[in-house]
Amino acid sequence: MLVQTRLNRNQAIEFGMVFMLAVFLATGPARAGESGEKKVLTRDQVEKKYTWATEDIFPDVKSWEAEYARLEKEIGTLAKAKGTLSQGGGALLAALQMSDETEAQLDKLMVYASLLADQDTAVGENQKLDQRATLLATKYSEATSWMEPELTAIPLETIQSWMADNEKLAVYGHFFDDLFRQKKHILSPREEELIAMSGQVRRVPYNAYNLLTNADLKFPTIKDAKGTDVELSDSAYYLFMRSPDRRVRKDAYEGIVGTYKGVRNSAAALLNGVVQSHIFNVKARGYDSCLAAALDGGNIPVEVYNTLVATVNENLPVLHRYMKIRREALGLTDGVRAYDLFAPFVIDEGPKYDYDGAVEMIVDALAPLGDEYLSAMKKGFGSRWVDVYPTKNKRSGAYSSGTFLTQPYILMNYHETYDSVSTLAHEMGHSMHSYFSRGTQPYVYSNYDIFCAEVASTCNEIILQHYVLERTTDPKQKLYLLVEFLEGIRGTVFRQTMFSEFEQRIHEMAEADEALTADSLSAEYGKIMKKYYGPDYVHDELVDSYWIRIPHFYYNFYVYKYSTSYCAASNIARRIMDGEAGAVEAYMEFLKGGSSQYPIDMLKIARVDMTSAEPIHDAMKQFSGLLDQTEELVQQVRATAGR
Ligand SMILES: [Zn+2]
Repeated sequence: MLVQTRLNRNQAIEFGMVFMLAVFLATGPARAGESGEKKVLTRDQVEKKYTWATEDIFPDVKSWEAEYARLEKEIGTLAKAKGTLSQGGGALLAALQMSDETEAQLDKLMVYASLLADQDTAVGENQKLDQRATLLATKYSEATSWMEPELTAIPLETIQSWMADNEKLAVYGHFFDDLFRQKKHILSPREEELIAMSGQVRRVPYNAYNLLTNADLKFPTIKDAKGTDVELSDSAYYLFMRSPDRRVRKDAYEGIVGTYKGVRNSAAALLNGVVQSHIFNVKARGYDSCLAAALDGGNIPVEVYNTLVATVNENLPVLHRYMKIRREALGLTDGVRAYDLFAPFVIDEGPKYDYDGAVEMIVDALAPLGDEYLSAMKKGFGSRWVDVYPTKNKRSGAYSSGTFLTQPYILMNYHETYDSVSTLAHEMGHSMHSYFSRGTQPYVYSNYDIFCAEVASTCNEIILQHYVLERTTDPKQKLYLLVEFLEGIRGTVFRQTMFSEFEQRIHEMAEADEALTADSLSAEYGKIMKKYYGPDYVHDELVDSYWIRIPHFYYNFYVYKYSTSYCAASNIARRIMDGEAGAVEAYMEFLKGGSSQYPIDMLKIARVDMTSAEPIHDAMKQFSGLLDQTEELVQQVRATAGR
């Protein structure tokens, strides 16, 4: 969600990434698009119990307006604390509490406006509310921009002595620690000013890449499976890649990736631009490497990253085995090509689930999480946290929202597929994490760090998978589900680690003054692809240019967090499903912890050690187990078909 802690918000603004991050959390990597063929309902055709309770935040827009006016005034008075922070513990506490309180109210204002804006994007009035709320948040940031420099100008020892005498100030201990931890990389005011001035220039590569790939590229037309002309688009890429017709997949792949390849030199210059901006930051602020600088934001040790990459590499034979099974299941005599990676094994759509049935199933499946979790979740389902169905002009996809002063809110576009059920369990995982953290922590720690953000959601997905597999008897439906689950791990753990490895490699090259050109980038990408997919994968030269399609390479070591989150969740889910003594209690403590400790320490509370290889091995074992079942079923389905 847009709402972030004081520190996060500043970082996000620096990178100009507020929206991007929100979208990632919302949809996760590489989800297939929705087909959206059914007739679309309008909001008044949906029963109230299937809509979210925005009236619990503000009864109507009039009361929102009144609160807006009040907050606008209040923000105007925040400057009165300027110059007072060093006067003593009491003054510092008063300023922090005042800004926390204003921020919490502001979050509430923003959430209401964004929910209204998303439920019907065609209502101009609501879009305006949303924009005004965002503008007010910017005003707030400006009005309080003096706080951080003034605060860090006070010696930490002084603040510590104040904390010793003031319990309420001591609550902010971890917040101070995090702030001062990064202080050694903060430069003199004049140098900081110069770096800030260069920000607009450093954003050019990403902005140019965005425009190049979203506005300027035009994709060709191909014939679909029925022989009808269809225009290719990047957003429909995964729909085409899931076509059972190999000719369609090949034409679509060549049409889309070939178009990207047409701008390979410009794309290389832009990617080099963003890598150089990271190097600028490393040199200016005195970091060891681009990787170390990127990980420092969440205080993540570099060994966490290195362990992930090394352990996934160690386990590549299991991915190779999947490729072998994929090759056999799809009957690809020439081998698995890049456009075969997403193809389904069975054309059958899989089982159907209506919404009420899905809720019941999720409640039943997540029973191992214990009574406290379950009763809170049931309360959530029963008190309109979820906006269930796709309606006219509603924002697509799914997300979990809400803030400190509101209940959680979940946007869904529910179709009756397993994917929808799983998405609901996923978003509910986010919401439950928020619910427990907000209910336990003070405002300053009520949001969890991005490094931990996908753990609770993925944990729900994994437990649900086990539950459903145990209860699905139809071999075709089971095979459909198994491949979906395998694809989840391939897409989240293997593929994101692979992207991350490419990202690391090109930063290292640039750090060693090697030129990043279309040729050198493509050579690296091709090498990594071949290594990951192994002997049953056939590499076409065009695949070397696939890096041009991935916007994540502009996000500065972001994608590895998809992999680490999945592995952490796999580890937690295994303990809970195994009934390990105390595992549920440890997990609940994690869910209630918000950001009261650094992310790696938060996960330790849930008994996950991300500096070790164990969580990664757990995800790999999970993958192997699914492969065993898949291999067996492929034979079985084939034998039945041949009879
Ligand atoms: Zn998520």
